[in-house]
Amino acid sequence: MITIFSEDHRLQDGKAELIDGKLVPCFEMPKRAEIVHARVKEVGLGPIEAPRHFGRAPIVRVHKPDFVAFLESAYDEWKSEHGDYDALPLNWLAPRMRRKLPERIDGKLGFYSFDAGTPITAGTWRAITSSANVALTAQAKVANGERAVFALCRPPGHHAGSDFYGGYCFLNNAAIAAQAFRDGGAGKVAVLDVDYHHGNGTQEIFYDRGDVFFASLHGHPAQEYPYFLGYEDERGEGEGEGCNANYPLRWGTGWDEYETALDDALATLRRFKPDALVISLGVDTFKDDPISKFKLDSPDYLKIGRKIAGLKLPTLFVMEGGYAVEEIGINAVNVLTGFEAG
Ligand SMILES: [Zn+2]
Repeated sequence: MITIFSEDHRLQDGKAELIDGKLVPCFEMPKRAEIVHARVKEVGLGPIEAPRHFGRAPIVRVHKPDFVAFLESAYDEWKSEHGDYDALPLNWLAPRMRRKLPERIDGKLGFYSFDAGTPITAGTWRAITSSANVALTAQAKVANGERAVFALCRPPGHHAGSDFYGGYCFLNNAAIAAQAFRDGGAGKVAVLDVDYHHGNGTQEIFYDRGDVFFASLHGHPAQEYPYFLGYEDERGEGEGEGCNANYPLRWGTGWDEYETALDDALATLRRFKPDALVISLGVDTFKDDPISKFKLDSPDYLKIGRKIAGLKLPTLFVMEGGYAVEEIGINAVNVLTGFEAG
């Protein structure tokens, strides 16, 4: 299996995130991608190639142009007002407040974000556009006949919506790639999100569309970040009615319960009859993940890969979360080798 990877991911190297009432070093760190990259080489998964450049057009197919322009200029605006250190938002819209774009950067950060865990740094724009190019380069290879390609994206993307960022995510790499499949002629596309956290951004982007099915297995929003989306009764709306499937799972979920939900999600996607499959590949479902509460073990990721292969679809793997840094390479690559053996 070909892997697409860019060193530019290192340009996103935030100093701190707000979690548990403390500013702590970012869990979403460059070492994550380095360890996955090293594991891809170690097991000899296949060639590792650099991304091509696709420009802004495929990004604004799923993100609003004003949001993308904000991401591009946010750090410079922040730096000119506050100095050369990472930008974090201070406050957000509550229900019945007015959604009106403020002039100053502090207000804009709150307007376009939903958490304080996602610093905008000097290198953020280059890192996130590179990450999108990694996904698009891999997508193009799948569209041109590769059975499966691994987009080793960083920063991740699945929490980013049409006009908001958060959850370590800025541009939604999986959604950009899913749209690229559609624009390249695929009639229907399925996105399966196996990251521990609900892919709220991907759901939001495709919620009213019948051509892209979104299915997600994740920590139950009653217990887990991002809390305000990811329930079972969110099934899509309008033309997208019935094209969204959430599998919220409680803390402590282990393989048996996970497998039941995964089998159901895969059967649902099979009935949709998609032409291509995008996997939002997070491995923060691992038992030792520092910010998550599932109990999957490393061999379970081989089984996930094998089951995904059973759909027999052209498949794009897009790297998302996973914060047990020492094991992230083993677990992510286990999904890929399991797929190839399936
Ligand atoms: Zn996650």
